[in-house]
Amino acid sequence: MRVCVYCASSQACAPVHHQAARELGRTLAMAGCTTVYGGGASGLMGALADGALAAGGKVVGVIPRFMVEVEWQHPGVGDMQVVEDMRERKLRLLAGADAVVALPGGTGTLEELFEAITLKRLALYLNPIVLLSVEGFYAPLERFLESLVEQRFINPEHRGLWSSVERVEDVLPAIRDAPRWSPDARDYAAVR
Ligand code: AMP
Repeated sequence: MRVCVYCASSQACAPVHHQAARELGRTLAMAGCTTVYGGGASGLMGALADGALAAGGKVVGVIPRFMVEVEWQHPGVGDMQVVEDMRERKLRLLAGADAVVALPGGTGTLEELFEAITLKRLALYLNPIVLLSVEGFYAPLERFLESLVEQRFINPEHRGLWSSVERVEDVLPAIRDAPRWSPDARDYAAVR
C-alpha cells in the first residue's frame, strides 16, 4: 500500500507532534507500506521519514527543484523525485496513493489536505483520507467542516470524505474501515 502523508515543516511545534510523525513512519514501514511525502528534512516531514527509514521502510520524497536548491530535502531518502513546482509535487504525491494521512501542519499541509478532500468530493480521488488529530489538533477544523454541512455548503454524505483518529495505532484500521467511495459520488457533489 502506498500512503501519502501530508505534514508540517515546522521544527518549533510541540514535540508530541514530532513523536507522532516518527511513530507514523515506523508504523507504515512495519506494515510494509510505502510512505510518500514532501521530501523535506525538517519538522514533522523529517521525523516521518526518519521513523520510516529507521524501520527499514520504503520512502518516496517528492520535492520541488527550488527546495533542493536551498537543500531542504532529506539526505537519507533514496527515492527523491525532483519536480518543477509545488503543483506538480501535489499531483505526484496524490497520484497512485492508496490512502492519504494528514498529520498536524500549517498552511501547506492544509492546502494539500483540502485539495485531496475536494478531489474526492468530485470523485477524482477515491481512497481513504485520515486526519491524525494528535491531541485533538484537528478538532476545530472538524467543527468548522460540520458547520459547512449545517449551512448547506456541503452535503451530509460528504462527512464520509474523511475520518479522524487521535492515535497513530488507529491510522491503519481507519484506512481499512473507511467508507467505500465510488465514482457515483459525483452525483451528489453539488449541493442542491
Ligand atoms: P506547512 O504545513 O505549512 O509546514 O507546510 C508544509 C509544506 O510546506 C510542505 O508541502 C513543504 O512543501 C513546504 N515547506 C515549507 N518549508 C519547508 C522546508 N523547510 N522544507 C521542506 N518543505 C517546506
